[in-house]
Amino acid sequence: MRKDHEMVHASEEVYSSLHRRFKGDLLRPGESGYEDARAIWNAMVARKPGLIARCADVSDVQSAVRAGSEAGILTAIRCGGHSLAGFSTCDDGLVIDLSRMRQVNVNPDTRRAWFSGGCLLGSIDTATQKAGLVFPSGVVSHTGAGGLVLGGGTGWLTRRFGLSCDNVERFTLVIADGSVVRANAKENQDLFWALRGGGGNFGVVTEFEVKLHPLTSVVLAEGLCPEADIRRLLERWRDFMADAPIDLKWNVDLRLAPDTENVPVALRGRPVASSWLLWTGDPDAAEPYFKPALSLCSPDSVNCKGMSFLDLQTMADAAFPHGRRYYTKSGYFPQLDDSTIDCMVGAVATIPSAETQIELAYLGGAAGQVAAAETAFGDRSAPFIMNLIGNWSEGSADADHISWVRGLFQKLRPAMKPGVYVNFMSGDEQDRVPEAYHERWGRMVAVKSHYDPKNFFRLNQNVLPRKIEAKG
Ligand SMILES: Cc1cc2nc3c(=O)[nH]c(=O)nc-3n(C[C@H](O)[C@H](O)[C@H](O)COP(=O)(O)OP(=O)(O)OC[C@H]3O[C@@H](n4cnc5c(N)ncnc54)[C@H](O)[C@@H]3O)c2cc1C
Repeated sequence: MRKDHEMVHASEEVYSSLHRRFKGDLLRPGESGYEDARAIWNAMVARKPGLIARCADVSDVQSAVRAGSEAGILTAIRCGGHSLAGFSTCDDGLVIDLSRMRQVNVNPDTRRAWFSGGCLLGSIDTATQKAGLVFPSGVVSHTGAGGLVLGGGTGWLTRRFGLSCDNVERFTLVIADGSVVRANAKENQDLFWALRGGGGNFGVVTEFEVKLHPLTSVVLAEGLCPEADIRRLLERWRDFMADAPIDLKWNVDLRLAPDTENVPVALRGRPVASSWLLWTGDPDAAEPYFKPALSLCSPDSVNCKGMSFLDLQTMADAAFPHGRRYYTKSGYFPQLDDSTIDCMVGAVATIPSAETQIELAYLGGAAGQVAAAETAFGDRSAPFIMNLIGNWSEGSADADHISWVRGLFQKLRPAMKPGVYVNFMSGDEQDRVPEAYHERWGRMVAVKSHYDPKNFFRLNQNVLPRKIEAKG
């Protein structure tokens, strides 16, 4: 890999090699469209690539991978640009941008979809809903499916239908030597295993073939639990979810209540536990499950309604806009003991901004029923997932937010089980990548060493191939 000062020349070398045959757009600094194209979702990561290659099709991806590999240039792959860690950009290097590759095809009869590697979740939802079907993915429609599915993919339907990666039948990808490879239960089985949770380590996925499920509407309830009852609510959530049906998803966010009209005046700006309950079964059967969950919420904050699946999937879009500053740390708890709950409750009062939150989700359900060895995705036996997400707007507040997230993480770390969901990791946690895969790490390294021995695909939660690992 070239040193920084050589990268500028390397990007020119890649441009010269590509510009005659490339069908998509090649954007260099100073050219029209470059400034918009270089921005990613997390404004904490503002980089200036030497070349953005916005591919029009698979052969463009092959050309870009070959040219980047020959030039030895640092290369980022971008789908939706939502990497929390900022992996979809780099300074002076090459960005292979898939945003022109957003085709979705659905076969309602076989309940299958095929979508291109640059799709956002929203375009998949829109296409599948036309057939009354769903692909289980994430909760914000402007997130890229490429990064989300390859890391695992959790969302509203995880308990009902499993992780996104559990629903992939076949990947088609361009590997480091520029060739196109397919991976499914019969072809390249090790690669198929590794791609389900292993992130962008193995190649550029140009097409996902996935299973779909029938669903068009859901019931959603929300409520705010005041500070004095947060401890009791978390105890109830912990005890209740262990036996909850797979039709129920109950997420809890600990945060300061926003200063908005729909929030009761007494709660505005105060620490609260915000409960979100989703029911995907028969609407009439939801109430017995919602009642105990909502009884600790302030009655004037409770809202329960039936809604379309598409409304559910876009509901949180505005809360996580492009261009703000974000920093995360994440982990799994095998159980939520009382002192962990105490620590979280104590931390809410010190949250540095109204948008920053402690997100808690309970996995289990269909996702928890898949054996640990079946996919590269991290351990499914620790059902409590915590995501600390710092969310703010001013660069001058970076230090306060980052130190709050890190400080709370360190306090909670002893109660966690080894393991982490790679898509919720920040960019400064390379030492935790082996932990993310723990007993699956050796197999991950073997698959990486076979398909990407020179570590061309390195801007990700990176698995070092053997030879490079040995050199240290
Ligand atoms: C607002 C927001 C909401 C989120 N909600 C959820 C959620 O509900 N559930 C959840 O599980 N996660 C969620 N995440 C985390 C999300 O899964 C990761 O940030 C994911 O990496 C985003 O994918 P992307 O394609 O947009 O990212 P990008 O930044 O484009 O890419 C991220 C990584 O994926 C690799 N990659 C992307 N596409 C491809 C491809 N086609 N082939 C090979 N490698 C590829 C890149 O190399 C890079 O390392 C959310 C993130 C954000 C910012």
